[in-house]
Amino acid sequence: MKPIKPVIVIHGGAGTISRQAVTAEKEQEYHSALRAILTASQKILTDGGSAVDAVTLAVTMLEDCPLFNAGKGAVFTHAETHELDAAIMRGEDLQAGAVSCVRHIKNPIKAARAIMEQSEHVLLVGDGAEDFARQQSLELVDSNYFSTEARRDQLYRVRDLQGGTALDHSAETLTVQPAPIDEEKKFGTVGAVALDSLGNLAAATSTGGMTNKQVGRVGDSPIFGAGTYADNRTAAVSCTGTGEMFMRMVSAYDVCALMSYTELPLEQATNKVVMEKLSSMGGEGGLIAVDAQGNISLCFNSEGMYRGYAYAGEQDSVTAIFK
Ligand code: ASP
Repeated sequence: MKPIKPVIVIHGGAGTISRQAVTAEKEQEYHSALRAILTASQKILTDGGSAVDAVTLAVTMLEDCPLFNAGKGAVFTHAETHELDAAIMRGEDLQAGAVSCVRHIKNPIKAARAIMEQSEHVLLVGDGAEDFARQQSLELVDSNYFSTEARRDQLYRVRDLQGGTALDHSAETLTVQPAPIDEEKKFGTVGAVALDSLGNLAAATSTGGMTNKQVGRVGDSPIFGAGTYADNRTAAVSCTGTGEMFMRMVSAYDVCALMSYTELPLEQATNKVVMEKLSSMGGEGGLIAVDAQGNISLCFNSEGMYRGYAYAGEQDSVTAIFK
């Protein structure tokens, strides 16, 4: 049997390239943020820690980083509020936990994990999820904590100037330098998948959803099988993109089902789901995935996806934005 090679893979959303507009410094800022997150979560795996701990740390750090649309830096709803979704799943026993439409939980992924480990339920929403987080002594914050000027400008642009919703953070912000991936065309969600030294898989996803979304809207991220899934027999998957399409196509589970029923290798399964099935329905975005052998896939049909991976025990990590 081949030795297991523990690995962590992360994403910070997918979308359209705005390469001309972006400065080298801004691009570097994203690479550095991704690298710091990979280094910290890679260490957990190198030290023999669990895939669940590695993805929890990676997504917590992504939530704390205002560059990404999850936790601090989350986009605004139409009502100028924040509603956050997050999910975590472990492949060993298919245990899972998720929250949706929460407004005060500083790190929604920690609440999702507490549900997975401490609750008989799988998905809690709104006030009930926040009460549960309080009982678990998780940190609650005023929802202003999540706001940044860039996201507010983005809402005003999408809501008041353009009308409609933007699939994620609005693009050109009025007060900040453009991000490498056009914020108007970027699906802003963060996620992590990992394999640990015991051969266990885990997946975690967290998001602020879409700019100018209707209050109460739930995306694919906290829906198991749609935006997040993990099963040791096949793969761990975290998606980003047009949530409604990922839900209708049950994309994360579809990768695992293809591997299980047709014995497709990981890369072929993710390609079929993203490049063929999602694209044929007009869906846009991508996913990250790892299988029980430590094969990884970072697959997207948009022009770019903030992404990276690091194998346990290796010096380097790999980060990328564009194709
Ligand atoms: N999939 C997320 C959602 O629909 C959005 C995203 O990935 O940006 O909420």
